Amino acid sequence: MNTTITLKLPKEKRLQLKNTWSEGLSDSAPEYSEYQLKLENCTITAYTSGTVVFQGKDAEVYAAAFSKPESNFVDHAGSDEVGTGDYFGPVCVVACVVRSSSAKHLMELGIRDSKQMSDEEMLKIAPILMKEVDYSLLILDNARYNRVHRGNNLNAIKARLHNQAYLNLKKKGVALPDLIVVDQFAPEASYYRYLKQEKEIVRGIHFETKAENKYLAVACASIIARYGFLKTWQALEEHYGMKLTKGASEKVDRDAAAFVKKYGFEELRNIAKLHFKNTDNVRNLIDFPF
Ligand code: MG
Repeated sequence: MNTTITLKLPKEKRLQLKNTWSEGLSDSAPEYSEYQLKLENCTITAYTSGTVVFQGKDAEVYAAAFSKPESNFVDHAGSDEVGTGDYFGPVCVVACVVRSSSAKHLMELGIRDSKQMSDEEMLKIAPILMKEVDYSLLILDNARYNRVHRGNNLNAIKARLHNQAYLNLKKKGVALPDLIVVDQFAPEASYYRYLKQEKEIVRGIHFETKAENKYLAVACASIIARYGFLKTWQALEEHYGMKLTKGASEKVDRDAAAFVKKYGFEELRNIAKLHFKNTDNVRNLIDFPF
């Protein structure tokens, strides 16, 4: 879907836009234009008149940071999790708070939906975010995940981690804003039902799906969570001296089989989510190597 968005931006905003995406600067800018940026799924053309045209599949994504009036920014907290779809590696949950004082800087960094960012980009941006916002990063390693998963379904685990991340923020002395957004993974009633046993429960949460591209704090949480996941992943690969494949594909089965041949089946619980059907596939691969 090709979208065109036209904004009127003052000189300093046009400069900021150019600096943010300078890697896409084109040497063949159209006549009468100030500059043109050729980015993946979006071409941005700025004119000295102040008109800036965003064109392409991701026009909205790129324009978003520059079309939001900062004065409307509301302090809010957000949380998201990563790693639940990957056979290998931990589940990471992050809750963070974004205040209007950092919103501008964060938008300038080009924070957007983490699903639209490469791992390399996130590894670069996350450490800056972690200095800018208050956050709590929880990493549920595979050994603990496998233990906990015996008595809880995945959504219950997620609910407990999200709740804990907010509690950790409070423990750090961070005041939680009125607006708290969880990237929704379960109906609201289920979320609180999963937390019934918890000593302390953070309430008044707003649940919304695809929140990572609507709320800056959720976008930041998602990027920091991915960072935690990638760092843990790197450590696992180094520790075992093996490259591992993300996701849960057949390639993952083969990686796991190679791992088991080297380290034994028992060790798999320390790097993989054993309830995935990949575990059965590995058993088959090991039993019938040909
Ligand atoms: Mg999510």
